[in-house]
Amino acid sequence: MPRIKMSTPLVEMDGDEMTRILWQLIKDNLIIPFVDLKTEYYDLGLLNRNKTQDQITVDSALATKKHGVAVKCATITPNLQRMEEYPQLTEMWKSPNATIRSILDGTVFRRPIVIDCIKPTVRTWEKPITIARHAYGDVYKSAELKTDEPGQCVLTFTGESGASQTISVQVSDGPTVWLGQHNKDSSIRSFARACFQYAVDSRQDLWFSAKDTISKTYDGRFKTIFEEEFENYAVRFDALGIAYFYTLIDDAAARVIRSKGGFIWACKNYDGDVMSDMISSAYGSLAMMTSVLISPDGSYEFEAAHGTVTRHYYRFLDGEKTSTNPIASIFAWTGALRRRGELDGLPDLQGFAAKLEDACLGTVESGIMTSDLVALVEPGFNATSVNTWEFIAEVGSKLVYTSEQ
Ligand code: NAP
Ligand code: MG
Repeated sequence: MPRIKMSTPLVEMDGDEMTRILWQLIKDNLIIPFVDLKTEYYDLGLLNRNKTQDQITVDSALATKKHGVAVKCATITPNLQRMEEYPQLTEMWKSPNATIRSILDGTVFRRPIVIDCIKPTVRTWEKPITIARHAYGDVYKSAELKTDEPGQCVLTFTGESGASQTISVQVSDGPTVWLGQHNKDSSIRSFARACFQYAVDSRQDLWFSAKDTISKTYDGRFKTIFEEEFENYAVRFDALGIAYFYTLIDDAAARVIRSKGGFIWACKNYDGDVMSDMISSAYGSLAMMTSVLISPDGSYEFEAAHGTVTRHYYRFLDGEKTSTNPIASIFAWTGALRRRGELDGLPDLQGFAAKLEDACLGTVESGIMTSDLVALVEPGFNATSVNTWEFIAEVGSKLVYTSEQ
């Protein structure tokens, strides 16, 4: 069978531990036999980040800007414990995702992969809910202060022109903690655009929530910019029969639980961090959550939402064939291949991505799955737990079958 040709390389960011093992298995068994795979390879494994003084992470993000599509394996973010585990580390390197996000900017869209035999905890949800998380600023790029005596804190902005504005934050009568945070019009605007564009592309309603009743200037600014940007999309939304609305975050939280799903929920950075964990847990598992970062210049970076599955990796090193779920990593690859196919006008590549996803979901629907999913299936459903190697072999055989049809 001739393999599907690609014209532009994917930026491939390899990673760590168990997901690095999955990465190679997926490529060798589910992609390379069918696709004449072209990638520009960046090894973001911890030791190579250390060896290159983390330059490799920066290079991979810049390559993503150049080529437009990347696929990333999960990576270790070193902490004190990792510094002991890897004594050769010369520095506690920053999270690669943070480095990549600060270069690409943009919005992270997280969407659960839903399967008939696994019902979400919230019984009314019939379709997936996508969280769109703003990936810049707020508490993640803030300044914090702890003070010990009574006094006043003020907030001063000094412009390049020399003009300044000052307001009192609070007069306090004792030890106090303080926090200064910011966001930029340009980043909020690109967040809004990414959300409207994703809604149009995926033909889903868009909800945006914040707390402008309390934070009239800060959250109010987000609300206003979304309204302004929506003017450029209103006609397209009408034509597709989809809707945009803004509501307070507490109202959104209540409505989401009562909803049927099938929409995008745009959240500020912190809200998105929290809500995406809630949504993924309610749909079943982090191992069934896809994640894509879309930057304002139109670059896409696909990944799985989970980490490097360390506990499984150490069991694997001890010789165990673990039952680690590769589905989110497979969907990172299919997302990237599909996007590459769209950009380069390669319908066969897009078709292959769809077939691989179907083969994956079909395998689970047929009752063959990794053990994390066995624990989630509906009572009465006949599920067999297999290890990762057996699962991938099963998906591969389904894929060969559908490719020959
Ligand atoms: P994790 O790797 O997501 O794993 C936490 C637990 O969730 C696992 O021990 C496993 O539970 C379950 N799990 C996650 N993915 C699974 C899968 N594909 N199949 C089956 N079970 C799965 O989170 P972590 O242990 O907190 O973090 C490990 C490392 O990943 C850390 O060094 C962290 O820095 C990094 N991390 C990277 C990213 C990223 O690159 N995007 C994101 C998050 C964390 P059981 O052990 O109970 O089976
Ligand atoms: Mg989080």
